[in-house]
Amino acid sequence: MNDPVLVINCGSSSIKYALVPTTANQPRLTGLVERLGSSDARLKGVDSRGDVFTSDLGDVGHVQALKAILEGLEGHRPSAVGHRIVHGGERFTRATLIDDDVVAAIEQTSALAPLHNPANLQGIAATRSLFPALPQVAVFDTAFHQSLPPRAYRYALPESLYRDHGIRRYGFHGTSHACVSARADALSGLPGGGWLTAHLGNGCSTAAVWEGRSLDTSMGLTPLEGLVMGTRSGDVDPGLHAHLARHLGWSLERIDEVLNRESGLLGLSGLTNDMRELEAAADKGHAGATLAIEVFCYRIAKSLAALSCALPRLDGIVFTGGIGENSPRVRRQVVDLLPHFGVELEHNANLATVRGREARIDTQTPNRPVLWVIPTDEEGRIADETRKLLGDTPR
Ligand code: AMP
Repeated sequence: MNDPVLVINCGSSSIKYALVPTTANQPRLTGLVERLGSSDARLKGVDSRGDVFTSDLGDVGHVQALKAILEGLEGHRPSAVGHRIVHGGERFTRATLIDDDVVAAIEQTSALAPLHNPANLQGIAATRSLFPALPQVAVFDTAFHQSLPPRAYRYALPESLYRDHGIRRYGFHGTSHACVSARADALSGLPGGGWLTAHLGNGCSTAAVWEGRSLDTSMGLTPLEGLVMGTRSGDVDPGLHAHLARHLGWSLERIDEVLNRESGLLGLSGLTNDMRELEAAADKGHAGATLAIEVFCYRIAKSLAALSCALPRLDGIVFTGGIGENSPRVRRQVVDLLPHFGVELEHNANLATVRGREARIDTQTPNRPVLWVIPTDEEGRIADETRKLLGDTPR
């Protein structure tokens, strides 16, 4: 493997990793350390033959977990590390070489992403202590959306909240929206096309991308705004918080917990946040599951229609993420709600998509928007951005 990049996505109790080689025909070593901070942390990885291995790590911290990850890399040594960082605020508009100043700036944005940025920083600290000589690059989930114009990123709130406290829409999943819109450009032979991208997984967001730049997106200050998600409510009336506090006596923490962890597909169905299980239950007539899928799809279509206002021209829609890539039913229900876009789903192509493969699922009628299913590759994109930055940066 020549000059592989180690991509790290560090959460508070987990570290996802991928050793990404320079060329696509070499195997990628991937895996996850989970239950960090408990007495039974575990490494689960995939080796170069595609076989899964697990190893019990016991009570380990981030540094020991990273050491275990390195031992699972079959002797390959990374040439650089790319870190997925959730929030880059307004300062970070592109991938950035990590130094003490960058670490301090990421710390300063932690108030905007209290669950994510501190965990991401733990990953940076651990990798810097293990590989002091290796270049490390921060790739921000928010960076791709820094091209939003003020009319898309400002809330209609007093100006001082923006100026003094950074209250604005930032957007997330930027690496994924950037990755699949660039791929749609390439596949369609339309450099700089106008795309609506729908990243539909446990977290869900849409984006409007024109000439490779994000012009609007459904997530906002936090990853709670916008679409219905696995356990997140997405948009609710901003008056809901005050109503729940006044009439039910709920604390802010309780409201936050309910909107982030007990709502979305799980809350609506009363069953599960897993789309596969919901589809199976709906097939058996479960009313909650049927309603959850209906609301989920309606809100996606509504968001795509709203975001189309940002585009000078609509070339097509791209579906990605675990649900977007693998659920023909969701794609059909969404497209059925958008006849005014002139999109036409080719039903057999929609049903015949294969996990992990790109597919065109419209009727290929000239002058109509295209429908793509494009597997997202956030790790590959983080590795590419890391390599590109290091190639551009004198060291
Ligand atoms: P992600 O967060 O991108 O890994 O996506 C997770 C979501 O994708 C879960 O709701 C899964 O149920 C859903 N998913 C994965 N495979 C399928 C499938 N074949 N059909 C429907 N949903 C799927």
